[in-house]
Amino acid sequence: MTAERNSIYGAEACSGCSLCLLVCPVWRSTFDIRLTPHGRAKALQHGATAFDVADSIDTCTLCGACEPVCPEEIALVDMVLALRRDLASTMPDRVGNAVVQLQQGVDSNSTTALSAYPTVLLADSALSEQPQLLQTVLALFSHEQAGLAADSGADIALALEAGASVPEERLNRFLAPLRTVRRMIVCDGVLLRALRDWLPRTRIDSLGEAASSLAGVRARLRPDDFYVIESRAYHADRERLVAHYDQLRVSSGCMMNLDLQRLAIPTTASHQWMPEKRRVDPADQARWILEGRVVARVVVEDCRDIAVFQRVAPYPVLHVAQLGDAR
Ligand code: SF4
Ligand code: SF4
Repeated sequence: MTAERNSIYGAEACSGCSLCLLVCPVWRSTFDIRLTPHGRAKALQHGATAFDVADSIDTCTLCGACEPVCPEEIALVDMVLALRRDLASTMPDRVGNAVVQLQQGVDSNSTTALSAYPTVLLADSALSEQPQLLQTVLALFSHEQAGLAADSGADIALALEAGASVPEERLNRFLAPLRTVRRMIVCDGVLLRALRDWLPRTRIDSLGEAASSLAGVRARLRPDDFYVIESRAYHADRERLVAHYDQLRVSSGCMMNLDLQRLAIPTTASHQWMPEKRRVDPADQARWILEGRVVARVVVEDCRDIAVFQRVAPYPVLHVAQLGDAR
């Protein structure tokens, strides 16, 4: 029995205050308390197993918005990930797709030149599928000679999200060339959380933070832009990033998907794991985020959000890297 099971994944601390419901996109979409942190925690307190809460953990987008509002400071994202891992260990079919990708692996020789780059970009699968945007992102960081990691760890990111175990050999092969890198720019918020644990001495920034720190990008943001922060990376590091995004908002005057408590309202567009029948439609979130705003452009950090906002917004939608020359 794991320590996580002994402590019912941290759920024993839940008071049932329901504050997490206020920010959870799954609650907004379903109004089903069983699919919320509150519902999961109470079920676990009353003896439910990971199997019993399978539907609930499948719906979680890992957006992280619930963590900063929880007065008991329960690690709610880690709770879901631990439950998925436990469930996957007894029901391997649940993570079939993730395992297939891990088994396919990557060319280990393709990562040997990473030490030549001061900065390395780890693209997620969505950015890799958009070569032109990927080149735009790389060009944004050309002044610091950024290179693209051929092994982006996309299979590992998917395995982490799904709860599949990552073979030690695969993890070592992924991490070995990254150990010499000074700065990493990471697209996937779940992988970013894990990388900070695995490589605590390396500077690891999200793509959104890295791009929006560049003077050229900041100068091109306008007061009638609506800037969409990627919530998984933001909530993995919220205490530090609050100041960064406050400063960006003040200097540009742009609007953002931050609420009054400066929580990043999630779009859930980056969710990969949820079964189709359970998916929260990110367009609903996008509509809600833009409601009542007078907006000229939408600027997104997560390239998946481009298509999401194009479905609901009559405005141009662009990726933060497309704001142009950053030097
Ligand atoms: S991580 Fe996001 S989707 Fe999951 S329970 Fe928390 S707020 Fe809801
Ligand atoms: S905010 Fe925390 S303590 Fe309150 S119901 Fe949600 S999980 Fe429980």
